[in-house]
Amino acid sequence: MQWSNIFNINKKCTHDKVPLDQDIYYCPDCGELVENQWFLVRCACCGMKEVATVRNGEVVPLENFCHNCGGKGYTVERIEKLDCVNINYAIVLREIVNNEINEYTQSWVEAMQTTNYIPKLLK
Ligand SMILES: [Zn+2]
Ligand SMILES: [Zn+2]
Repeated sequence: MQWSNIFNINKKCTHDKVPLDQDIYYCPDCGELVENQWFLVRCACCGMKEVATVRNGEVVPLENFCHNCGGKGYTVERIEKLDCVNINYAIVLREIVNNEINEYTQSWVEAMQTTNYIPKLLK
């Protein structure tokens, strides 16, 4: 169990229910607009594709070295679409797309209009 699961306050939605065949989708859990971003990891030495994984929010190779040349360096590249050639290698990162900033302001105004609360004057 991770610390983030113990302390609910730090719990971050992982947007697990966003379908992988969609580029952009509203997460059913948190309501954020989430983009599926696909990444490939290649050996920096010979350019062979390596199986990618995510550690601490970063795309890294699953193995510590290249099986082709033994090199430890790697490069991460973003790919537009997942295709059948890369399906065994690529990894997805689900990133929130921030274009809904106006929504907060609007709901705040509505909350003010529907409440009967009248602030007392402080003396
Ligand atoms: Zn979510
Ligand atoms: Zn290599």
